[in-house]
Amino acid sequence: MSIRKGKNYPYGIHVRDMKELCCDLPIENLPAPKKVYLSMSQHIGAPATPIVNVGDKVKKGQLVGQASGPVSANVYASIPGTVVGIEELVNGLGQKQLHVVIENDDSGEEILLPEIENRLGPTLIERIRLAGIVGLGGAGFPTAVKLTPKSQLEYLIINGAECEPYLNCDYRLMLERTDDIYKGIKYVAKALNVKKIILGIEENKPLAIEAFKIYEDLDIVILKKQYPMGSEKHLIYCTTNRKVPVGKMPFDVGVCVQNIKTMIACYEAIDLNKPLTEMVMTVSGKGIENPKNLKLALGTPLTDVVEYCGGIKERAIKLVAGGPMMGKALIGLNHYTRKTDSGLLVLIDGETNTAEPSNCINCAKCAKNCPMRLMPMFIESCALAGDFVGAKKYGAMNCLECGSCAYNCPAKRSLVQSISMAKNKIREMKL
Ligand code: SF4
Ligand code: SF4
Repeated sequence: MSIRKGKNYPYGIHVRDMKELCCDLPIENLPAPKKVYLSMSQHIGAPATPIVNVGDKVKKGQLVGQASGPVSANVYASIPGTVVGIEELVNGLGQKQLHVVIENDDSGEEILLPEIENRLGPTLIERIRLAGIVGLGGAGFPTAVKLTPKSQLEYLIINGAECEPYLNCDYRLMLERTDDIYKGIKYVAKALNVKKIILGIEENKPLAIEAFKIYEDLDIVILKKQYPMGSEKHLIYCTTNRKVPVGKMPFDVGVCVQNIKTMIACYEAIDLNKPLTEMVMTVSGKGIENPKNLKLALGTPLTDVVEYCGGIKERAIKLVAGGPMMGKALIGLNHYTRKTDSGLLVLIDGETNTAEPSNCINCAKCAKNCPMRLMPMFIESCALAGDFVGAKKYGAMNCLECGSCAYNCPAKRSLVQSISMAKNKIREMKL
């Protein structure tokens, strides 16, 4: 084991992390819901194709949605019961997606994946693909695809930064399931055939750093508490001193970055033969009665989650899926947990910006804070003028949508929303 401090990077911001609302609370199991709504689009890539029909009986762990291409992912029943619907539903983010709806029969019946024959690299990757595992940190990219780079990599970096305020799932898992994470890491390193394994943890998680010190072959890097430390490019730079050039990917500099939760899913798929049917999320914010860290079935309605946490306080004004910096505002609780969800935040006035935007005063604070060294005010102004060629010239496509620019903007401009819209238009118009 080696332990060292990571490099600093200029820019980025220092946010109040608000982790104290539930960082000391162990993960609780949410009882299995009466119904689950399993989206067929819980990952980047082509949606899965339902392979069950209304009326079918299914067991927990049974395949209900088949990956429909090389970049896609299987979806498994997260409770046993009867398929009562295969429907297009609009979720809390306003996205229309195909869902398989299962009503719980309380039978407790579960099936597992077949025992794997050997633990050689290709077999491990195939198992991870079969189990429907995707990047559980939020990206949702199918993990098996990430484990088959075109050239040999040098580093596997595990992202234990969890730099988003409020969220504590990775932290709790690092304390409560340390050994399972380590086993998952070893399997993934074997699949990639890499010898150098780095675990990056932010300095505000000393207990997690301590927990991993027993593993001889991990290079633990203590990261400065800085947002967005968990962004792949910054994590790679701070742990290996390598810079991922604009338009390139981590594998172009010999690195694969994986998330803590994904490592547990890999361990469970390989050692316990369990497909991905559960998730861990933080429910927090001053607008929820009892903040918690929860383990729950995929597809659980947020109404069940909120009820288990004692309900929403009257003064709550905003719901967010994910963290406050990169999460997305929800239009309501008509949302069902997906593989990539890490949090549900219920925020009150003072925790979220409620001020109307005013004119930009050209103070350049947003540019000073941008970790990608962009000029957000110019991208925003191009986006609002419909000049998407200009937005692209100013580097819109390199924006991480991290929110650092908007965080300190005195004019409360909705910079990220404008840049995100410009990125969508640039893709749509193939500029
Ligand atoms: S921080 Fe806000 S007000 Fe200042 S330049 Fe950027 S967009 Fe304009
Ligand atoms: S422009 Fe993009 S990358 Fe830069 S601070 Fe804003 S959201 Fe983050």
